[in-house]
Amino acid sequence: MFKAIVIEKQDDAQRVTIQSLDESRLPEGDVTVRVECSTLNYKDALAITGKGPVVRQFPMVPGIDLAGTVEASSADEFKPGDSVLLNGWGVGEGHWGGLAEKARLRSDWLIPLPSAFTASQAMAIGTAGYTAMLAVMALERQGLEPDHGEVLVTGASGGVGSYAIALLARLGYRVIAATGRPEEEAYLKGLGAQAILDRSELAEPGRPLAKERWAGAIDSVGSHTLANVLAGTRYGGCVAACGLAQGMDLPATVAPFILRGVTLAGIDSVMRPRADRLEAWRRLGELLDRAQLDTITRTIGLDEAIDTAEALLAGRVRGRVVVSMT
Ligand code: NDP
Repeated sequence: MFKAIVIEKQDDAQRVTIQSLDESRLPEGDVTVRVECSTLNYKDALAITGKGPVVRQFPMVPGIDLAGTVEASSADEFKPGDSVLLNGWGVGEGHWGGLAEKARLRSDWLIPLPSAFTASQAMAIGTAGYTAMLAVMALERQGLEPDHGEVLVTGASGGVGSYAIALLARLGYRVIAATGRPEEEAYLKGLGAQAILDRSELAEPGRPLAKERWAGAIDSVGSHTLANVLAGTRYGGCVAACGLAQGMDLPATVAPFILRGVTLAGIDSVMRPRADRLEAWRRLGELLDRAQLDTITRTIGLDEAIDTAEALLAGRVRGRVVVSMT
């Protein structure tokens, strides 16, 4: 038997409980993993609260990230005792996920746990940190360098935002953190932000082009915020779009693209090919300060995850939450 968060749906009503399940109920897969830690991402919070159409079949065990130890494997690449990591691939959406003591998965979704991190540290980073790394890599691919000017990070106190600030600052960029939580100024500056911008300055409909302010940006907010971020991007700059915390819409014009040569780079972490994942995790290992992971992260038990999902969507969670199974 193993414990898991289970999302069920009956007559359009969603019910979320912690249940003890028999191992025979695990889905198909060639690797069975004893989960040590999972985490709560924005997407997990949407799944648990039912506030977004994340879950594609019921019953579902949520959890798009997990780290743990292989218990059984019929795949050549993994053997019992191996430490493994999973991010995305639709796990926790269409296949039972990581908010459970056990998971059965496809071996091609797994990567070895990077030697730089423990299972708990890998979950402190999770999809949020790995996505922030992918966004930084996208800006670099467009040729962004620290001496080109400031880089804006929106949704700054959130998971993606916190890691985006830490990574950019470590690489020598001057970071502006856009936040709705002025009380987190010390936290954001501790991560390496040089300046704070009130997110309300970006949240309302704006002009097609605004004063050129930042050479690059990592946006996890979308909607009017992303439109205003694009409008304020300097000539030849690049904006990496990875989220929709304000909304899925993009009420923008083409002006920044055709008059300032601005690039909008889309970031998807879920279906990202294996080589990019390995490279992102290698760079995370190289760049992240382990002590900073503790500043960004809080650890909870599986029994606290359901309530914490509500708090996360309400903007009451700073940084990241690790869910420990022990
Ligand atoms: P968090 O909830 O941890 O952070 C989101 C942050 O956005 C909040 O902390 C808040 O920051 C800000 N925010 C929240 N609501 C609003 C609003 N209405 N208007 C403006 N800002 C707002 O989530 P994550 O960091 O885990 O994820 C952020 C986004 O990125 C989500 O939309 C998520 O779905 C997406 N994502 C996408 C991935 C991909 O593969 N493309 C992977 C991972 C995440 P503050 O309080 O500082 O203002």
